[in-house]
Amino acid sequence: MMNRRKLICAGAAMLARVPSALAATYDLILKGGRVIDPSVGLDAIRDVAIAGGKIAAVKANIAGDATETVDVRGKIVAPGLIDIHTHAGRSKEGPELLLQDGVTGWVDAGSAGADNIDQIVAVARGGPQIGRALVNIARTGVVSPGGELHDMNRANVALAQGAIARHRDIVVGVKARLSENVAGANDLEALRRAQEAAAPFNLPVMIHIGQSFSPLRAVLPLLKRGDIVTHMYAPAPNGILDEKGRLFPDVTAARRRGVIFDFGNGTLDHFDWATVERGTQQGFWPDTFSTDWNVMSKTTGVIDFPNVMSKFIMFGMPLSQIIACATINAARVFPSFDDRGTLNVGAPADVAMLELREGTFEFLDNYKGTRTGHQRLFPAGIVLAGKQVQRA
Ligand SMILES: [Zn+2]
Repeated sequence: MMNRRKLICAGAAMLARVPSALAATYDLILKGGRVIDPSVGLDAIRDVAIAGGKIAAVKANIAGDATETVDVRGKIVAPGLIDIHTHAGRSKEGPELLLQDGVTGWVDAGSAGADNIDQIVAVARGGPQIGRALVNIARTGVVSPGGELHDMNRANVALAQGAIARHRDIVVGVKARLSENVAGANDLEALRRAQEAAAPFNLPVMIHIGQSFSPLRAVLPLLKRGDIVTHMYAPAPNGILDEKGRLFPDVTAARRRGVIFDFGNGTLDHFDWATVERGTQQGFWPDTFSTDWNVMSKTTGVIDFPNVMSKFIMFGMPLSQIIACATINAARVFPSFDDRGTLNVGAPADVAMLELREGTFEFLDNYKGTRTGHQRLFPAGIVLAGKQVQRA
């Protein structure tokens, strides 16, 4: 019975695909771009065809008519960008602004705790693209200035678990900010509580490192496979490098057992060029990029996600690897993004078009340090769920 019904449905679907004078085969074809999709190891000139909000074909010279065909020659056509450390949930406009930078998926990383997570969740549900949140282990969420973890009564495991249980579809992990100005000497205990809150739900914990009270070698053993270290190039004290600038063996060991290291641009104290340089010279590159974005980011060293990606062009990271960090690698961190970060046939048609411009571009770290690069990626067209939200 079930089988026959399935067969009938499949037959109807096939008939619906037959092109006719009335219905085009595809809704949209992005024609002749440089398609970089690291999820399938593709970097070549291809057309991308979209139908019904999904990727329908990625091929050279796609034949078949489309409601709209857009010439994207000279542009990079990549899966929509995924930013796993933002504060987009803080305001209603956040998700829409991020979308304009090519970000078709975001995670708000701990803006809110158990007391105020409902507001972040409402923004995530109301945004145009997929948005998720990490609940701060401190019930208040980020308290800045001052810091949310000086009073450990705020790091309430039961309340954090309640927040997760209320919003299982949106809350995808727990965040703990461990720098000394946020947590004082409470960093390790705060992380233990974050793990305790996450454990029954099998969720990852994201920690923010740098300038912590405890050394990284005491922090890292408390992380499990799939947990995320953001602000990975935070300078001393207690960053990834020893006093001679050598990568701590504990850091590479953590990566080997599956801890994810995220760039997390930010604006204050989260990275300096010297640490990026020494880290990358020793082969320690990010698994994911993220901006630590907020509505003010246009006026800080973040500017937009493609600008953050471009900093690593300057350090010699191959473009396909840069796009991987911003798409498939980020998608793999949270199961919510399982079908994203790819242009695979059948995936939601979230596409970021980028322009790689040559010139002289000044990039900023968090200490007013500037470096000059000669290539910069710019947002140059966005497709979300098959619809052009910014024309290529
Ligand atoms: Zn942040």
